[in-house]
Amino acid sequence: MSKRDYYEVLGVSRTAAEDELKKAYRRAAQKFHPDRNPGDKAAEASFKEAKEAYEVLSDGGKRRIYDQHGHAAFENGMGGGNPGGGFHDVNDIFGDIFGDIFGGGRQRGPRRGADLRYVVELDLEEAVFGVDKRIEVPTLVACKPCDGSGAEDGKVETCGTCRGRGQVRMQRGIFAVQQACPACGGRGQTIAKPCKTCHGNGRVQDEKVLQVKIPAGVDTGDRIRLAGEGEAGPPGAQPGDLYVEVDVRAHPIFQREGNDLYCEVPVRFSQAALGADIVVPTLEGEALIKVPHGTQTGKLFRLRGKGVKSVRSHGTGDLLCRVVVETPVNLTARQRELLKDFDATFEGEHGARHSPRSSGFLDGVKSFWDRMTS
Ligand SMILES: [Zn+2]
Ligand SMILES: [Zn+2]
Repeated sequence: MSKRDYYEVLGVSRTAAEDELKKAYRRAAQKFHPDRNPGDKAAEASFKEAKEAYEVLSDGGKRRIYDQHGHAAFENGMGGGNPGGGFHDVNDIFGDIFGDIFGGGRQRGPRRGADLRYVVELDLEEAVFGVDKRIEVPTLVACKPCDGSGAEDGKVETCGTCRGRGQVRMQRGIFAVQQACPACGGRGQTIAKPCKTCHGNGRVQDEKVLQVKIPAGVDTGDRIRLAGEGEAGPPGAQPGDLYVEVDVRAHPIFQREGNDLYCEVPVRFSQAALGADIVVPTLEGEALIKVPHGTQTGKLFRLRGKGVKSVRSHGTGDLLCRVVVETPVNLTARQRELLKDFDATFEGEHGARHSPRSSGFLDGVKSFWDRMTS
């Protein structure tokens, strides 16, 4: 299946700035999030597609590569991954691309372990207040019996092929190239008696269990780097890093925009007309907003400091409550009568006095027809 262009997926131009990308991704994520579309395969596919596009375009380096080479550059590394708690090998993507461009032989000695990326899904409350998360990362870990050396008795010998240099010269046509010694894998040392558990590799596949401290205020796309917690390296090499990336689940009440939270507050039309004190939810309990008489649907009430405390600065966002005037349903006989009587009082009245919106609307319709017919 051919992939759609990442810019097209997010509906942004090729020159879109970072915050524009973030907004576009947030829109798509909220619309297609699996939590909001349970069992909907098409929505899930759209969600993954947007996520993948955002991951590439929001990363300056990856974006440059994508702009130059298109999807071909990422064919082996990305996509497909399991939804939610998946991980990818970051080195697979970059190691190979740069290896090809710069012609290999980029590093002396054994290559360090791969960097890993792990996506941790959080509830909004967890992201806002911070949380300790236990994660299980399937990866290569240092072999315990040999302590990662690969040698059963811990004894290593200088490699006879490269004489300990780790590199050998190879003739390729008219070129002589330096490359990692094939006998010792660039380590310069060989193992006399390989460890029985790891067969001399120094590392084994396992599930690494970590307790990760997620700071308060993180948002979707934020990454926490855990140095040295990635894949174990071969004997003598450093381990890679682990990047824990945050993915915040959609919340039933609050939507987040940066450090501000939005929520919809339904009010009865009589409350909106007469004015009322309305109880609204916040992340730290209830609060009261004073809805003045004559309030229209869509009016925003700002509760300062009731949003999200930023993870990067000392600022705290606001909570914005959007009033939605609700039409009453299942009326009793008495309520119907009262409403009919009430409605009758509007007869012969001019709209502008009691219905600012309809009169504005009717004026608009009139001038529209006047333009059409003149
Ligand atoms: Zn060697
Ligand atoms: Zn071992």
